[in-house]
Amino acid sequence: MKPAPFEYFSPSNLNEALGLLEQYGEEARILAGGQSLMPLMNLRLARPKVVIDINRLSELQYIKNDNNGSLTIGALTRQRMLERSDLVQRGYPLLTATIPLVAHSQIRNRGTIGGSIAHADPAAEIPALCVALEAEFIVRSARGQRVIPSKDFFLGYMATALEPGELLTEIRMPAWDQAYGWAVGEVSRREGDFALVGAIVLLRLEKKDVCKEARIALFGVGAKALRMRRAEDMLCGGNLDERTATEVARLVSEELEPDSDLHASAEYRKEVGGVITRRFFVEALERAKKAKKR
Ligand code: FAD
Repeated sequence: MKPAPFEYFSPSNLNEALGLLEQYGEEARILAGGQSLMPLMNLRLARPKVVIDINRLSELQYIKNDNNGSLTIGALTRQRMLERSDLVQRGYPLLTATIPLVAHSQIRNRGTIGGSIAHADPAAEIPALCVALEAEFIVRSARGQRVIPSKDFFLGYMATALEPGELLTEIRMPAWDQAYGWAVGEVSRREGDFALVGAIVLLRLEKKDVCKEARIALFGVGAKALRMRRAEDMLCGGNLDERTATEVARLVSEELEPDSDLHASAEYRKEVGGVITRRFFVEALERAKKAKKR
């Protein structure tokens, strides 16, 4: 199928783009990499009257370290640029490990970090990563700027806090602590498919393997990426070992309330959510122990 008719704009700078967004409000959709929007338009599941193509906004393509060590990424940065960035590979191992799980390299060549976050697919890896890392989003409009923490940004199934007229311009990831043990992975039907169930685990240890901090984010199991707060609270302050892994898996599986769909049943997702959390918890714990010895 072909998309329904639409008016097309290709602004050459940010101010022009924000002016168009202000003018057309709810009638307008941003086109970034087009890897999600174009299929939706071709199937006529999305019928925007106006498409604002931001691909000429080179000012939104960058990966930088701030003075405080945090990573700032322009929203139009291609997923493949992140995957290949020396800066990211040197300082942000979890980000480097997560990006290759997104689709295939051809899609990552076009797909942008901002597009994935704004699209907010509940099975997408990048929004889950942002939730796990507690990233912040810079959102601009003709009226000004807002900074939105990831916990307030993702509202539900493909729903975000972005309002008509607003453009996501920058993603800020807090400084990476080399003491983190981490692991990320997913179960999908074929390599490159969206996750049926995915998990990210981050652990930080104090003396004698006592847990100082635990973060567990699951994706593909609800309307948005979820932090597993019960399991995180149980871990903090306790000794971490193989037995804890079993308890974490049980708590996560209990906490999940996924839906069934064409791809997997709710029971499958609950079960596998626990199983992969256990697997990635063990992997993250090994890394955290090694990091402590360094
Ligand atoms: P676009 O398609 O251009 O836009 C997506 C949405 O975000 C639109 O509503 C658009 O208006 C809005 N938008 C884009 N940029 C901004 C901005 N800066 N501010 C405000 N709104 C904005 N993704 C995964 O995460 N995991 C997968 O396994 C996966 N598999 C895929 C497999 C296939 C075959 C395909 C075609 C896609 C797959 N994707 C997957 C989606 C892919 O990662 C997309 O690149 C991503 O979801 C959207 O990024 P984009 O830049 O292409 O955005």
